[in-house]
Amino acid sequence: MPMKYRARSRRSWAEPFKIKMVEPLEMTTREQRESAIDEAGYNTFLLKSDEVYIDLLTDSGTNAMSDRQWAGMMSGDEAYAGSRNFYRLEQTVRDYYGFKHLIPTHQGRGAEHILSQLLITPGTVVPGNMYFTTTRAHQELAGGTFIDIICDQAHDPAGDHPFKGNVDQEKLKKVIEEYGADRIPYMCLHTTVNMAGGQPVSMQNIRETTEMCHARGIPVYLDATRAVENAYFIKKREPGFEDKSLAEILKEICSYTDGCTMSGKKDCLVNIGGFLALNDDDLAERAKNLVVLYEGLHTYGGMAGRDMEAMAQGIEESVSYDHMHARIGQVEYLGELLSDNGIPIVTPVGGHGVFVDARAFLPHVPANQFPAQSLAAALYVDSGVRGMERGAVSAGRDPTTGENRIAKLELVRLTLPRRVYTQAHMDVTAESIVELHHKREKIHGLKFTYEPKLLRFFQARFEPVDSQRVLDD
Ligand SMILES: *Cc1c(COP(=O)(O)O)cnc(C)c1O
Repeated sequence: MPMKYRARSRRSWAEPFKIKMVEPLEMTTREQRESAIDEAGYNTFLLKSDEVYIDLLTDSGTNAMSDRQWAGMMSGDEAYAGSRNFYRLEQTVRDYYGFKHLIPTHQGRGAEHILSQLLITPGTVVPGNMYFTTTRAHQELAGGTFIDIICDQAHDPAGDHPFKGNVDQEKLKKVIEEYGADRIPYMCLHTTVNMAGGQPVSMQNIRETTEMCHARGIPVYLDATRAVENAYFIKKREPGFEDKSLAEILKEICSYTDGCTMSGKKDCLVNIGGFLALNDDDLAERAKNLVVLYEGLHTYGGMAGRDMEAMAQGIEESVSYDHMHARIGQVEYLGELLSDNGIPIVTPVGGHGVFVDARAFLPHVPANQFPAQSLAAALYVDSGVRGMERGAVSAGRDPTTGENRIAKLELVRLTLPRRVYTQAHMDVTAESIVELHHKREKIHGLKFTYEPKLLRFFQARFEPVDSQRVLDD
């Protein structure tokens, strides 16, 4: 099938590295993949990695580390207390993120857990620009209720708003008026917004949002997991930032907030790790007391010394313009291949992946047969490419009513690990999706055979509706 290539984008994002070591991949047959997906209950989370050719499930912890990071692993100081790698990481976080206190955790959710336990009490509400799965689960576990205050454009898969992650300040104002600042322990600010398709927030929006909260005594905690990617979009799209470095923009974003939770498995270019960073001395003291209970002593939290070293090095590499240009350039390249060939995707393409609009892709599959879950399974069968569902299955059920939450977007997420795959892998992925689009009538919907209570998308199992297979020949 003819694919369109654009010489312009081919040239523009070439990687600022060369490859020193390779990891061979298993190639599978269609028959093998059909039986693998059936065994996995049509849930791509339950596939074995050995059964996958191109793994676009997530960009979380799937990063390729640099030679300098690997060298750093050898200088791990595994002392129980006061590891030298902790002090380097603490200084690096101060230098680049600007927060005073560092509490290392095993990954992002460890930090979310501690922050939620410290600040949220039953009956309180936490406004945020769209939910993230683990973030909301920890807020609910602590007795809080998450309230979405993202702008309406975030729910429109086809719009071209440059900052679809923005907070809608009217919605925020309403939440504050309705509940009162006393019942709002903090506001949770995401940069870039993962669940909206990696869409950025503008600096102006960050400034105005945090001003509104602070004027009413409400602290703002940043989900800084993808803040460097957000900084890149600000540099590219927001007037006045063209000549600023990513490091300067990142520091400015953080300067408006009171602290952050971080999953190091994304921007920080490592495979495991995270942290909570805080400015408030008192709160930091209490966080250090909690981290000992749940993660480990406050100078390692959930991380080995060597992992803290690799993360410190990764943070320095992550703010390089050349790195981020190649990273987001690769995402844009895949997005262009798909949209040039008529595939409905979320636009503009976000920071960490391309999100296919499964509702538009599979108009014959009704919402209660999970179009995105079905498309992800069919894609795997066709080419061994693993994506993930971000729609009704991920949205889960409302904890009070028990009803399925209405997912405004029904997406298949193709997330690009950082520094891992080549342009040829992107071409193979796009060709498979375009071919599936041509024969979309052959894709069948799914129904639950097992539905877990919490974060159901990780473990749920399905079977095809009215068919033996999710994708006919
Ligand atoms: C991945 C992620 C988290 C959770 O971090 P883990 O390291 O997976 O625990 C939180 N927020 C956002 C925006 C993320 O992308």
